[in-house]
Amino acid sequence: MREPVIAYVGIGANLGDAVATVRGAIERLGSLPQSHVMKASSLYRTAPHDAQGPDFVNAVAQLQTGLEADELLAHLQEIEQEAGRERPYRNAPRTLDLDLLLYAADRIDGAKLTVPHPRMRERAFVLVPLSEIAPQEVTAAQLAAVSGQRIEALPPA
Ligand code: AMP
Repeated sequence: MREPVIAYVGIGANLGDAVATVRGAIERLGSLPQSHVMKASSLYRTAPHDAQGPDFVNAVAQLQTGLEADELLAHLQEIEQEAGRERPYRNAPRTLDLDLLLYAADRIDGAKLTVPHPRMRERAFVLVPLSEIAPQEVTAAQLAAVSGQRIEALPPA
């Protein structure tokens, strides 16, 4: 069995009480088997990216986990579905989106899972919270490239 690894999970919500949804997701990540939340970024309010509707609330969590990457993805999808049960109507936009951003230094190119997450470097809502808790994972040039995207840190609870 592999030693526990460090993984980063991107969290986003833009429906209902998005702040509560993101905080709840961070708590749920900490209750996954063989997993602990080592760090969680501030919550950020961000402009919708390739999407309509209200602003998003985003954060990034650093997990230490003994789960394999595909097992972790399955758990993330289960947490998304739990949040989805609170959908106000059928086919309503998702209340919660969880992305596996990084899993150790692994490169995974599978049918269900690509790591590092292929679009993470284009998104201020990933790079800014990630740089807060893991500055070594983000370069100044990458941050500069997304500096036109609106993002503001929310005050701590
Ligand atoms: P989305 O609707 O953007 O949340 O994408 C979900 C789909 O992306 C699922 O079918 C996943 O299997 C797939 N996927 C591929 N790579 C990743 C990743 N690194 N994190 C989350 N979902 C992923």
